[in-house]
Parts: sequence; C-alpha cells; structure tokens
Amino acid sequence: MAHSFQPEIELDLPPERPVKPAVMRGLRLKCPNCGSGPLMRGYLKVRDHCAVCGEELHHHRADDGPAYLTILVTGHIIAPLIFWVFATFRPDPLIMAMGFTIGFVSVALFLLPRFKGMFVGLQWAKRMHGFGQDDLQDGS
Ligand SMILES: [Zn+2]
Repeated sequence: MAHSFQPEIELDLPPERPVKPAVMRGLRLKCPNCGSGPLMRGYLKVRDHCAVCGEELHHHRADDGPAYLTILVTGHIIAPLIFWVFATFRPDPLIMAMGFTIGFVSVALFLLPRFKGMFVGLQWAKRMHGFGQDDLQDGS
C-alpha cells in the first residue's frame, strides 16, 4: 500500500522584502525601508536608525565589499580612458598622471558611499546580520 505523505507545514514567515528597490534606495543614500530618510550621518557612517521611519540600520556589515566594488568599477571606467587618451592625444606623462590620479580619486570618492548604501540595502532586503529580527520575533 502506497502512502503519499505531504507534510502540511505552514511557516509563519514575514513577507519578502523586494531587493531591487532596497538596493536602489541605498544607491541614492536613502533608507532601504522608506526611501526618504537619509542613510548616512557622515561620509561613510551609517545611521543607527532611520530618522523618518525608525527602521534599525545598525545591523549592516558591509565590511570591504563597497571598497572592492569601488576599485573594480572605477578601474574599469578609468583604465580604458587612459589608453584612449594616451593613444589619441599623447599628453605629457606628468600631466596625464596628475589628471588621471585626480579623476580616479574623484570617481572613487563619489562611488564609495553609494556602493556602501547598496550593500546596506541588499543586507536589509535579505534580512542579513540581524535586519528583520523584529519581524521574526513578532511572527512567532
Ligand atoms: Zn526609513
């Protein structure tokens, strides 16, 4: 006699958080939950709580991810530009080195906090490192 066993387990999980809006809000340096509160309280310091919706933001663990991504993206933007500028204009090496140093640092400083916001948004959406602990405690 064949038995078909289908367990009826209902998990009381909180609703999924959409990843793309959270990452895009982080990219704009806004709270991944409400999208209107500022994410940072300094250049790279993430606020403990959102000033608008009160969402806890101190759980983030971006670590080296934003720095790695910044170097990766900035290098892929600047390196082809170096070859093109050198092949096209043949500038003085000192001028070229100074120009591209300033350009690289400027692009990297622009991208670094935005990539950190992206990582915080991704971690918030995936409930990593303590994000969403309140939802899990409320649901059980
Ligand atoms: Zn918020």
